[in-house]
Amino acid sequence: MHFIDLEAQYKHLKQKIDKRIQAVLDHGNYIMGPEVEELEQKLAEYVGVKHCISCANGTDALQLAMMVLDIKPGDAVFCPTFTFFATAEVVAYAGATPVFVDSDERTFNICPKDLEKRIEKVISEGKLVPKAIIAVDLFGLPANYPELEKLANKYNMKLIEDAAQGFGGEINGQRAGSFGDIATTSFFPAKPLGCYGDGGAIFTNNDEYAALFRSYRVHGKGKDKYDNVRIGINSRLDTIQAAILLEKLAEFPTELIARNKAAASYNQSLNGKYITPFVPEGYLSSWAQYTVISENREEEMARYKAEGVPTMIYYGTCMHQQTAFNHLSYTDIDLPVASRLAKQVFSLPMHGYL
Ligand SMILES: *Cc1c(COP(=O)(O)O)cnc(C)c1O
Repeated sequence: MHFIDLEAQYKHLKQKIDKRIQAVLDHGNYIMGPEVEELEQKLAEYVGVKHCISCANGTDALQLAMMVLDIKPGDAVFCPTFTFFATAEVVAYAGATPVFVDSDERTFNICPKDLEKRIEKVISEGKLVPKAIIAVDLFGLPANYPELEKLANKYNMKLIEDAAQGFGGEINGQRAGSFGDIATTSFFPAKPLGCYGDGGAIFTNNDEYAALFRSYRVHGKGKDKYDNVRIGINSRLDTIQAAILLEKLAEFPTELIARNKAAASYNQSLNGKYITPFVPEGYLSSWAQYTVISENREEEMARYKAEGVPTMIYYGTCMHQQTAFNHLSYTDIDLPVASRLAKQVFSLPMHGYL
C-alpha cells in the first residue's frame, strides 16, 4: 500500500499524459512553450483569479512574493510555526524576521487571536515593521481568511496565502489560491495537484504584481530576457511539467471528490479512536493529508506498519524548534498548541485512488 499512490494515478491517466508529453517532444519548446500559457489560463480560471504565473516550485513562488512585496531587513512577517520549512525560510532569506504564530487547536491552521497578540507585541516593541502575514492551508484546509483579511486590513499588512497544500480547498465556494493579496502553490508530486518533478504557481488579482512576477521569474526582464530592468531569478515551469499538469488538472475535480469520500470514510471508522480532522462549516478540504491526533502516536503507527499501512508525521518539528531558527529564541511555552500537535499528530494514506 502506498501513502500517496502516484502509480495508480498514472495508470489511470497514462494515455492522455503520454500524448501530451509526446506533443511537447514534437514541438520542442521545452522552456515557456504553449502548454505553459494554456495551463496558467486554466489554473486562473479554476481558482477564480485574474492572473496565474507559473514558476519552478512552491518555495520560489513564496520567494517571488517576498520580492514583489519588497520584504526586507527590519520587516516582520507573521507565519504559523506548524508548517513546512519553506513558509518561514523565504522570510529569513529575504533578510526579514519571521514571527511564529501558534495554531488553532481544531483546524491546525494559524490562530487569528494569537496572530493579533503577536502583531500588537511587535508594534509595541517598535523594532520591526509588521509587513505581511503568510497563512498556510495546512493539510488541504484553507486558513481562516475571513478573520485574517480583517487583521491584514486593520494593521495595514499584506496577506499571502501559502496554498501549497491547499489547492482545491474552498471557503463558501471561494477557492484556495484566491485569498489575500497573493497566493502561491506547489506542484511537488505529493501535493493535491502535483506534476512529475518540481513546479509551482502564483495567483493574484493585482495587475501590477502580476507584471512584476513575470519579470522577476525571468531575470528581472523588461522587454525580453536580455533587457534586465531589475534583479530577478530564474524560476520557470518546464513545458513538459505544464503538459502533465494540464491532464492532471482536468482529472482533479474527480480526484477531489474521491479524496473527500476517503476522508469521510476515515472519519466514520476512526472517530472516537483519535481526534479526527475538523472542517469548519462552509469549508472544503483538498486533503493534502488526513491527519489525526493520538496520545499514543508511536504505538498506533507501529500497529499500522505491522498491517502494511504506511503512516507519516507532518510535522514532528515546528519552525520555532528548527535549528536554523534557534537564534530567534522561542520556547514551546510560547507556542503551546503547535508544540503539542508536533508530538501527537500522524497522517494516514490519502489520494484519489485509495
Ligand atoms: C510543499 C510546500 C511548500 C514548498 O513547495 P515546493 O514546491 O516543495 O518548493 C511550501 N509551503 C508548504 C506549506 C508546503 O507544503
